[in-house]
Amino acid sequence: MRIRVIGGTRKPAGFLAVLSLFLVLLGATPLLHADEPFARSRDYDLEHSRIALRFDLDQKKVIGDVTHTLTILRDTQSITFDSAGLQIQSVTLNKVAATFETSEDKLRVVLSKPAKPGEKFTVEIKYQGKPAKGLFFVLPDKDYPNRPRQIWTQGESEDTRYYLPTYDYPNDRLTTETILTVPADWLTVSNGKLISVTDAGGGLKTWTWRESQPSSTYLITVVAGEFAEAKDSWRNIPVTYYAPKDRADRLAVNYGRTPAMIDLFSRKLGVDYPWEKYAQSMVDDFVVGGMENSSATTNTSSSLRHPKLVPELLDDEDPLISHELAHQWFGDLVTCKDWGHVWLNEGFATFMESVWTAAHFGKDAADYNRWETSRRWFSMTGLYAKPIVRHDFDDSSEFDANAYDKAGWVLYMLRHQLGEDAFYAGLKHYLEVNRGKNVVTADLTKAIEEATHTNVDRFFSQWIYGAGAPKLEVSYTYDETKKQVALTVKQTQKREGYVGFFHLPVEVEIANASGPKLYNIIVSKESESFSLPSETAPRMVLFDKGTQILKSVEFKKDKKEWLYQLKNASELADRADAAVALGKLKNDDEAAAALGEALRTDNTDGVRISAAGALGELGSAAASKQLLDSLSSATQPWVRSRLVVALGKFKDEPAIKAKLEAMAREDSSYLTRAAALQAIGRMKTSNAFDVLTAAVNGDSPDGFLRDAALRSFGSLGDDKAVPLLRDWAAPGKNMEAREAAIGSLARLQKDNKEITNQIAAYLSEPHFPIRLSAIFALGSRGDASAIPALEALLKSNDLSIEMVPMIKGQIERLKNPNAKVKRYGQMEEEEEGADGEEASAKPAEDQRLSHLEQLVQEMNERLKSIETRLPPPPPNK
Ligand SMILES: [Zn+2]
Repeated sequence: MRIRVIGGTRKPAGFLAVLSLFLVLLGATPLLHADEPFARSRDYDLEHSRIALRFDLDQKKVIGDVTHTLTILRDTQSITFDSAGLQIQSVTLNKVAATFETSEDKLRVVLSKPAKPGEKFTVEIKYQGKPAKGLFFVLPDKDYPNRPRQIWTQGESEDTRYYLPTYDYPNDRLTTETILTVPADWLTVSNGKLISVTDAGGGLKTWTWRESQPSSTYLITVVAGEFAEAKDSWRNIPVTYYAPKDRADRLAVNYGRTPAMIDLFSRKLGVDYPWEKYAQSMVDDFVVGGMENSSATTNTSSSLRHPKLVPELLDDEDPLISHELAHQWFGDLVTCKDWGHVWLNEGFATFMESVWTAAHFGKDAADYNRWETSRRWFSMTGLYAKPIVRHDFDDSSEFDANAYDKAGWVLYMLRHQLGEDAFYAGLKHYLEVNRGKNVVTADLTKAIEEATHTNVDRFFSQWIYGAGAPKLEVSYTYDETKKQVALTVKQTQKREGYVGFFHLPVEVEIANASGPKLYNIIVSKESESFSLPSETAPRMVLFDKGTQILKSVEFKKDKKEWLYQLKNASELADRADAAVALGKLKNDDEAAAALGEALRTDNTDGVRISAAGALGELGSAAASKQLLDSLSSATQPWVRSRLVVALGKFKDEPAIKAKLEAMAREDSSYLTRAAALQAIGRMKTSNAFDVLTAAVNGDSPDGFLRDAALRSFGSLGDDKAVPLLRDWAAPGKNMEAREAAIGSLARLQKDNKEITNQIAAYLSEPHFPIRLSAIFALGSRGDASAIPALEALLKSNDLSIEMVPMIKGQIERLKNPNAKVKRYGQMEEEEEGADGEEASAKPAEDQRLSHLEQLVQEMNERLKSIETRLPPPPPNK
């Protein structure tokens, strides 16, 4: 699963939808079903399910008839299924009517006599229900009469039970036959092969899909609706794509690289793509970014970017597409036995994104992402003390940035330390031995050792079962007489809980008059010194050249060495480090000049972006001049927009304000114009109101500039925008424009009750993102008169279950506006964030962001600045 915060034109509510999911996974309320940390002991092995579903669109109801074939594993008196909120109408056991009882989330079928291991049963269950989650209806209504009709499911982690009584935990695998009866002009997608499409009468057709390879129930999928299909193939395996009917023309431009990815992963892993087909369905209002259902991934339709925006976002949706594809091996073919080992799914999928990035966009692009990820992970301080493998989910989700980002990093380190060939030999063996099985981490270490004869126990002990990462202090002196560099390394992390001292093989580069030389050292103690030869005084010492180890390091160097490093280090990460260090030398014109040169001439976009950011940090006149001078050479939108973000930091320079207004009106790049629109709002430039208004009324692909301008009105804080925002917030307008307008509207005329009432009216809309926008807008607005509306919402019976903690959080916020307690689902003031720290200054985070725990950790920071959010300028091209 990939949780995406930012899509093509993703807006705050996109983020909030994600937020809601993490709240579910968090078990933030007793209403939610907490994930079971440990795998169950099984009474039976569910072998096959024949799942026949019909749908009542008016009632948003599923009508099901499921037949399970299973074999008893332990002596038992009954057969229990997970079933939440479903009305069970009848149950037969081996075709004979059976007694059953239901509880909140179980269906227990009573056996007439105790069953013994090996006994086989066929259990048919007829049922219906209006799923609160697990299965979702997207339908037209009076405000949006033209929406394509869609039904889709999302099983992970334990939500299949909301539309299907089944065994709903990963430690079992079954084959499926999915029989879907839907309107005749619909398409359907499910796991496995399409067997038949037959006329069902009454304007309906029945589609039958069969998956012949077993996988876990959370990977069962149903997608049905008014979709268009595009066909491709890899070798003889069908590769298909589905878009809502009105966006069929966007499939090829965004998804066309899929066969190349399948090919790359099959070759790298030494195990061919394991399923009979690969379908990707892009659905509206999807609750996560992507979901790797076996042979049939579901992704958000916001990954179908407008063809005019695609060239500005070169790596486009490739991280999402490659992530879900990688899961077809890691997660689907080989599945974690319990959620405590979910890194075996998510860490590998995250790692494989970088494999595609490196192959397709180049090593520098992958290196930049890795460098960024390391910085981001360290900023999420709440993750530090938690090991990657853990089973205490009470206080947070197991789908955290340790399972994704850190685990992906750990696999990168493992590859670096084992070497490419040994690493992939280990993975191949792991996949082959465990094909079609459920695994724990020990299965991976065992497979690697069997394949490579290298013991990786210490590596796993410190990086996977242990927590944290090294925090280092490094310094050196040069002894002229001995011709030696004395390198001192201290591990400064606190040894407590799961965090210890690390044992690290480190590559040190010393560059002197005769060129660079590489030395390998092992760091393992709290404090140690290393003597390394150097004929002349070093010009540069790189500790962990190229950042091969997840660590934070304080390496005190003088300016001269940083300047040398920015210009001469061969690896991107070392030059980017130098840019960051030079960005801290306030009022230093030499630093500004060097950063300006890097911004114009470095051959990687990652360093150029880092240099632009560092110039923004410097904040001096010399720095702004460097940024302005670089505009003409920064033609790539993903660099140019970052340059504009950096210029937005110079609030007191009238010439820059005028320049940004001009760029907001006209620039070669939409991305850059959007960044400028947001910057002039935050800077409150004199013509900002007119420029933003013109952008709202102008034309741009998917309303890209309109939405950026609507978001920016909130930071501008000019009440003249109220009529326009009220208009754009209203039902019938584009959904993403509404989300932007609602957020900004909440920040204006705070004593105007009519605005509060207007936003409160949106609380009862059927559109999930609009509801969420309204909930959070009311919380941030601070008008306590909204409390009764929010409290009334809590009582409504059509409330999706994940909204409860969010609503409660906002009510609490309105009741205690000065409380500093940070709770999940509760926002800090947006205004501070909007005018101060800009999230848009960190688009690399946005771009790569996909992870729940990240949201947990950065919740407040992100929500603060949600109104100013930019779409992601990918830093790596
Ligand atoms: Zn995933």
